[in-house]
Amino acid sequence: MTIMESAPSSTRLHELIIGNELMPIYEKVMAQERLSYEDGVTLYTSPNLSGVGYMANLVRERLHGDRTFYVRNQHINYTNICNKFCKFCSFYAKKGGPAPYELDLEAVRRRLEAHKDVPLTEIHMVGGINPRLPYQYYLDLLRTVKDVRPGVHIKAFTMVELVEIQRQANKPLNEVLLELKDAGLDSLPGGGIEILSERVHQELFDRKLDGEGWLDIARAVAKAGLTQYATMLYGHIETAEERAEHLVRLRELQDETKHFVTMTPLAFHPENTELDTIPHTTGYDDLRNIAVSRLLLDNFTHIKSFWIMNTPQVTQTSFWYGADDADGTVQEYEITYQDNDQGNKRQSLTRKQMIKLIEEAGRIPVERDSLYREIDAPAEEPTTSRRTLLPVLNG
Ligand code: SF4
Repeated sequence: MTIMESAPSSTRLHELIIGNELMPIYEKVMAQERLSYEDGVTLYTSPNLSGVGYMANLVRERLHGDRTFYVRNQHINYTNICNKFCKFCSFYAKKGGPAPYELDLEAVRRRLEAHKDVPLTEIHMVGGINPRLPYQYYLDLLRTVKDVRPGVHIKAFTMVELVEIQRQANKPLNEVLLELKDAGLDSLPGGGIEILSERVHQELFDRKLDGEGWLDIARAVAKAGLTQYATMLYGHIETAEERAEHLVRLRELQDETKHFVTMTPLAFHPENTELDTIPHTTGYDDLRNIAVSRLLLDNFTHIKSFWIMNTPQVTQTSFWYGADDADGTVQEYEITYQDNDQGNKRQSLTRKQMIKLIEEAGRIPVERDSLYREIDAPAEEPTTSRRTLLPVLNG
């Protein structure tokens, strides 16, 4: 018998990849039926990651084919002074850790001008909860960005920052949101809850707002006509059940508001946190979180793999496990920043490197703006050949 004669048929091949445990979920995916919380727990606990990824890829290709999005953006973290002391956070200023800073408007302007030669379409701004900053600072911050870069999309302030901004403003949240919008705010990055679990909230970040508070603010954001992004921090103390519950609760909120654009699972980085005995997430876990997000979140159009958090190599692979977005070229990301050998603070990919990263994974790069409108940016013609994954950062 030749190798070809002994090869399984394509139907049999699907059965082999999916296996008995995942077959009921596979049938739902093929019928485009909504998966349940229990399905989510099965997807998180099944040893068959290939089967989970195979199904996530079916959904990803149904929605986007080979198209894989990226954005040219700059991150600005305007202060690292924070009074919330979250146990998983390495960003906030503390003794023996990062020195405190708050950027005045001139410093923000200089950071923006430093990258003015790059045709960025998005500025992403988040910071710590710094009680010294008055309401006016936030309005001026937005206006400064729009002044230096008119037309750019500003994605700024987690739900926790919004609570502080409202406290400083001493006005109803809907009024504050409209004023921030008027000053230039376009959307919200959505962080601040990490995972919708009261147990994790109590153990890791009990000074921040709880899940119900986060959901209420997200509803107010939708009502104000602002778009929002969703995240989930995984790889700390959360369980598979809590991950599935987080995704199902996001899905329920999206059914209600329809204002979420993208979901990004974020890998926890334990170094320099109070949880530094917890090991790093593995590529296996990173890919699973992307795949399960793709499968459970049937009302989210996009699933993002944030290469800074899970490495460019995992991000390349994730394009076959449900992700259709690589985030951006990113300048000066400091949230999980670690000094490299040169003491260099820059963490960024050029547009050329980003295109290469996507092409090497056998997908088609598409430059987008924050709302996934395609940017017509003629430059190097992308090729669509499917080649073996290669290291990309030296390109
Ligand atoms: Fe502060 Fe945000 Fe860090 Fe918590 S995660 S300590 S709120 S900067």
